[in-house]
Amino acid sequence: MSEARLIDGKAFAVDLRARVREGVAGLVAGKGVKPGLATVLVGADPASQVYVRSKGKAAAELGMVSFDHRLPEETTEAELLQLVATLNQDPRIHGILVQLPLPKHIHTERVLLAIHPDKDVDGFHPINVGRLGSIASGAPLDFPVPCTPLGCSMLLADALGALGGKTAVVVGRSTLVGRPVAQLLLRADCTVTIAHSRTRDLPALCRGADILVAAIGKPELVRGDWIKPGAAVVDVGINRIPDGGGKTKLVGDVAFEEALQVAGHLTPVPGGVGPMTVACLMYNTLQEARRKVGLPFAAI
Ligand code: NAP
Repeated sequence: MSEARLIDGKAFAVDLRARVREGVAGLVAGKGVKPGLATVLVGADPASQVYVRSKGKAAAELGMVSFDHRLPEETTEAELLQLVATLNQDPRIHGILVQLPLPKHIHTERVLLAIHPDKDVDGFHPINVGRLGSIASGAPLDFPVPCTPLGCSMLLADALGALGGKTAVVVGRSTLVGRPVAQLLLRADCTVTIAHSRTRDLPALCRGADILVAAIGKPELVRGDWIKPGAAVVDVGINRIPDGGGKTKLVGDVAFEEALQVAGHLTPVPGGVGPMTVACLMYNTLQEARRKVGLPFAAI
């Protein structure tokens, strides 16, 4: 069997960003509205600082306005909720992103609940979680959907075309990734199984999948002989492991070289799902800005 076709998430994300840039330009020209994204970072976690910076930069590159709020680690929950309330009211802002994880003294659920559902561009508000959980087959995604799962579903649709009738196994049941991916695949008429750390005989389950999504956080857990020949494999995992000589490298949740010999399509790590997350955040922000001025949902 020939090697799997690599799903180039980096190239897809560049293309999606270009489409968002066009959408932003159209909104500015047609309605005089510039989409605005507010990012909120509490504390000084280095990884979170990098993520927030890249999101603000991407927004500016696409012609959006970015509002960057950096709060000290000792910020109280009440102070953060006050800021969220102010951002909810601000008509210049169409998307609010509170970078997770928050410091331990702040209840994440209370903060996510405080974000107006129409500005919840991460798609984590319970209203949006419920909208995705109850979506009908093929219905439009006219509300914010979590960015990484949305990216996975876009890549799969692009690589495979119609997904209807395919058997999908999603390994991982987090609210951030596994569950929303599963719901998006169900909306696309796949037959979906969600697996997790208590699943029995995971390799056998995975071997039945036409589409296998790994969102586990365990380096190279999924081996080549877990994969059905010709299956599409989406590797969401980002794991840093030692690479000898004090160096480290990034690997996914799938043993890449083994998977390459068996799968039909495969996302690499890095360069697969990763670049889609920020691009989908920009997509969500544009969609919410369009909605605010009464434009219908449009897949771009
Ligand atoms: P998470 O919240 O830790 O969830 C991991 C899931 O994997 C859980 O449901 C867990 O099961 C399951 N699991 C753990 N060990 C397992 C095993 N041995 N067999 C089967 N299932 C197992 O992680 P997450 O936030 O969903 O993230 C998953 C991975 O995606 C991480 O590597 C993360 O860095 C990466 N990620 C990437 C992006 C991106 O932009 N590409 C975005 C977000 C996350 P239980 O529920 O039973 O514990």
